[in-house]
Formats: sequence, structure tokens, C-alpha cells
Amino acid sequence: MPMFDYRCRNCGHEFEELVISWTVPDADITCPDCKQNDSEKQISAPMVSTGGSTSSLSSSGCSPSSGFS
Ligand SMILES: [Zn+2]
Repeated sequence: MPMFDYRCRNCGHEFEELVISWTVPDADITCPDCKQNDSEKQISAPMVSTGGSTSSLSSSGCSPSSGFS
């Protein structure tokens, strides 16, 4: 089953969610921190380039594989 990275728009918390079904809308993903259903899916595409940076996340600077597991 696919794991997706989500980021809470409410508090900015980033987390991984195991998505059971492809039909689950992002709005149904609940932030484990603030419990708000206001998360957006993070597209972890390695092709994203914003000018030579190796960071695959937009602006947070966090490692994509920070120890949540
Ligand atoms: Zn949150």
C-alpha cells in the first residue's frame, strides 16, 4: 500500500499517511498533531529542481525520510 507524505495546512506538521484507497481525498487526511482535516499531499518528485538545490521538498529543508516509522 502506498505511503504518501502530507503536510498540514493548519499547523505545518508533516507526516506520512498510509493510503488504503486511491479515492481518499486529501481532505479526509487528518493531521495527527492538530486533528484538522486540512492536509495537502506532498509530491515527492525527484525531478523537482528550483535552481540546483538537492532538496526535494519545496521550502522546508527537512529530510524526506525523517524518522517516522
Ligand atoms: Zn496540523
